[in-house]
Amino acid sequence: MLATSLTAAVVGVDAHLVRVEADTAGGFPRFTMVGLPDSSVRESEGRIRAALRNCGYQFKWDRRITVNMAPASLRKMGSSYDLATAVGLLATDGLVPSPLLRDILLVGELALDGSLRPVGGILPMMLLARRRGIRAAIVPERNAREARIVSDVRVYPVASLPDAVALASSPERPLPPEPPPAASSAPAPADLADVRGQAAARRALEVAAAGGHNLLLVGPPGAGKTMLARRLPGILPPLTPEEAVETTAIHSAWGARLEDVLTARPFRSPHHTASDAALVGGGSIPRPGEVSLAHNGVLFLDELPEFRRHVLEALREPIEDKAVTVSRVRGTLRLPARFQLVAAMNPCPCGFRGDARRGCSCTPHGRLRYGARVSGPLLDRIDLHVVVAPLAYGDIVGPPGEPSDVVARRVREARARQAARAGGSFVLNGDRDGGSIREIARPDHEGTRLLRAAMERLGLTGRAHDRLLRVARTLADLEGVEEVAGRHVAEALQFRHPEPDTE
Ligand SMILES: [Zn+2]
Repeated sequence: MLATSLTAAVVGVDAHLVRVEADTAGGFPRFTMVGLPDSSVRESEGRIRAALRNCGYQFKWDRRITVNMAPASLRKMGSSYDLATAVGLLATDGLVPSPLLRDILLVGELALDGSLRPVGGILPMMLLARRRGIRAAIVPERNAREARIVSDVRVYPVASLPDAVALASSPERPLPPEPPPAASSAPAPADLADVRGQAAARRALEVAAAGGHNLLLVGPPGAGKTMLARRLPGILPPLTPEEAVETTAIHSAWGARLEDVLTARPFRSPHHTASDAALVGGGSIPRPGEVSLAHNGVLFLDELPEFRRHVLEALREPIEDKAVTVSRVRGTLRLPARFQLVAAMNPCPCGFRGDARRGCSCTPHGRLRYGARVSGPLLDRIDLHVVVAPLAYGDIVGPPGEPSDVVARRVREARARQAARAGGSFVLNGDRDGGSIREIARPDHEGTRLLRAAMERLGLTGRAHDRLLRVARTLADLEGVEEVAGRHVAEALQFRHPEPDTE
């Protein structure tokens, strides 16, 4: 007898439909699993045998049993196929009517006693079900909240294999129970009110949020670079419903256990020892990396010069293209990676260059080598460079800073102006689909004069000129004026070349 059940495989950030074909026949007893399962999938035989026995099913193993996972071109890994395989095997004996398995997705790992364990990637699987018109899904209880994010699929949370079999066999499936109300446990994002002083860095953070610019914070250890970076998501506009589902699906595909749709913009801060696979994604069955986990949010790289050179080079693609290409067995895969980069570094190896109180103890050669570790092309893609000075006494005892919600309102208004100019949705000033920056930011007389002088004095490239113009455009948007004026160009120049000469 042959029976087919449906389940899903997650590759990158998307799920693909997998048909589990189970066949039992007389002949020499043998269990064969085909269709590119890796060893972790082949181990499911042991779990399924024990679960069937311990749940009291009289399944006969002394015959020829073949399980085929189609399509065979898709590599299968992990334990999420257990449930579909077990139910499929029972269907070959008629314990589950095979036709009823045509429109239900079965997902879950089996424990030896037949209880169901949660798996990763549930949200992309439910999005797949919706896409393919599969109207119902049986999932482990602990995956239920995440599964219910997709409202068009009936989600049946079950605790064990017998519960799943009962549901799958019922021609008139009852409506799933109403989910209990979600306990909102999202912690409040860090607030800018905690940051005292730091006027220049706070301004840079606001400009970065308003224009979607990348930001580099340069300052000695303990000046508060990380504290500042963590406060960027809190002044960005909230995720749109589409962004929320898209972002949550990426985190689910990566393997995060989720209770509900993510509402806060992600903030990812990989350590400088991170491998390229961890940072940009990849692997034999591609998984998203930090750049994709930061999609629609912030990627924070602390100690930028400590990252390995080729890891930093690998960032150029996602910064330019808002996506990253990872290689797989057959061809390549594109993963979304639209993030805002915030990088932080010390001004020199000892960290105290430019600090009048401590003084720098580095050799000129050491300083040079340190700066050279971050390539020019990467720095070129960071519009805003700002010096974060160590706090002065007056700052520490001074009043608290302006709170995030006040800053967020200005950011929202500036973005609304940009969106209106680009015809509806926010795009980074001068991004490809937002029109050329030279068209949307025509500086006035004084602005033009300053730009020309800067080009000549600093020897700016065409690209650097355009990046400067983008920041100037954002500054005008924050101020609420249409024309880019000299003061905007002057401030944009400050952000590009902030370092005081301390040689
Ligand atoms: Zn130093």
